[in-house]
Amino acid sequence: MTASNSAIPRAAIDALLERERQRFEREHPASARAHAVNAAHWLNGVPMHWMHDWGLPFPIVVREARGAEIVDVDGRRYADFCLGDTGAMFGHSPLPVARALATQAARGLTTMLPSEETGAVGAALERIFRLPFWQITQTASDANRSVIRWARGITRRPLLLVFNGCYHGMVDDACVRLENGRTIAKPSLIGQVHDLASGTIAVEFDDLDGVERALKTRNVACVLCEPALTNIGIVLPQPGLHNALRALTRKHGTLLALDETHTISTGLGGYSRVCGLEPDFFIVGKAIAGGFPCAVYGFTAELRERMLGVLAQKAPGHSGLGTTLSANALAIAALNATLSEVMTPSAYTHMIDHAAMLEDALEEALRVEGLPVHVTRIGARLELMFKAEPPRNALEAAAGLNEELSLALRLFLANRGVLITPFHNMMLTSPATTRAQLDTLRIGIAEWLRELLQK
Ligand code: PMP
Repeated sequence: MTASNSAIPRAAIDALLERERQRFEREHPASARAHAVNAAHWLNGVPMHWMHDWGLPFPIVVREARGAEIVDVDGRRYADFCLGDTGAMFGHSPLPVARALATQAARGLTTMLPSEETGAVGAALERIFRLPFWQITQTASDANRSVIRWARGITRRPLLLVFNGCYHGMVDDACVRLENGRTIAKPSLIGQVHDLASGTIAVEFDDLDGVERALKTRNVACVLCEPALTNIGIVLPQPGLHNALRALTRKHGTLLALDETHTISTGLGGYSRVCGLEPDFFIVGKAIAGGFPCAVYGFTAELRERMLGVLAQKAPGHSGLGTTLSANALAIAALNATLSEVMTPSAYTHMIDHAAMLEDALEEALRVEGLPVHVTRIGARLELMFKAEPPRNALEAAAGLNEELSLALRLFLANRGVLITPFHNMMLTSPATTRAQLDTLRIGIAEWLRELLQK
């Protein structure tokens, strides 16, 4: 038991959960009815099994999501700080995206050919992310799988290096973790038969010696990482990590792929642009087309030459890259609208100012209660961790996770009209997030703490 857990009596958590579950069931009769209908045909009553992971008595069934607000079938309104775990980081249904989709929907959905706006999208990607060449996929998972395959194809090396605690999507190669210094497949994987450790090495996020040991073998095609870990709470990089990582990868001929699917919250152009990083590959999905399914990966001019070389030499037939619906006309239209009208400097200013206000307010509330808890922020993204000190790696971050407390917080807030992410305690602000919504969240968290501490 960590110090943070012991500050909160177990009985207090159980009592709160019991009472809040009853309240949730009482106040959501229409969601309960819809869930009963859904249970007849959907695994776990949901169309995608993660939707069950909120841990609520049954899912909130959504009628409408707009801006930073969700309305459910009971007519209840929620200030949404989950924002589809980043897919809706620029707000639900941004108007320019909704309009572009409607216009394009009347002109063809998918053709397996470039549409008229493709040139403008390429130029906008370079303007924002500072890389000249790009490809489109449907999800960030697809983009990461593509980058791994390209990196192995280009370098003719077999191995991938990732950081412990990473998550890069439905990407077998990256579904590993460190256990007692050994890389193993995540034990939670379903149907895993291949030995993932034969193709991937995991190291801790603050272990540059471990990185160097792996790269020195000159068998590592690619380091795939987020600039800051965001899927085990938030773990910020130690000072100098990115410079050292870039120097080591260059020295040993390993490609550096930065997955900015979540750290796109940092500011315009993501963490890479804000902090001046120079990746070989840059991946971003989820919010890149305003929440419409789409992801992109960018690369340098030098890599483009090497990729053309791989294509020229490959045997005829499937490359193992690409899916039929990738880069469809709707995705291009949504990308164009997002890049030109939604992902703007002023949108970031609003999001980041609001996230900073929330950070200050939460820190104050936590200081008053004197708990070993801290808040970490990357631009518009905040994380509440049950641990006094910010973690330096996944091992330390894992000590700050507490599923019971997170569930108690999520449920308590949902009953007070606020949604936060079902994974750890992540909160995002959007260009549509209001001061009133920040206040509702801050007051909810303060009340939750007081109640658990029985003050
Ligand atoms: N990269 C990162 C950093 C992610 O957090 C995720 C999903 N949470 C993905 C990639 C995969 O995104 P998707 O599920 O949209 O494929």
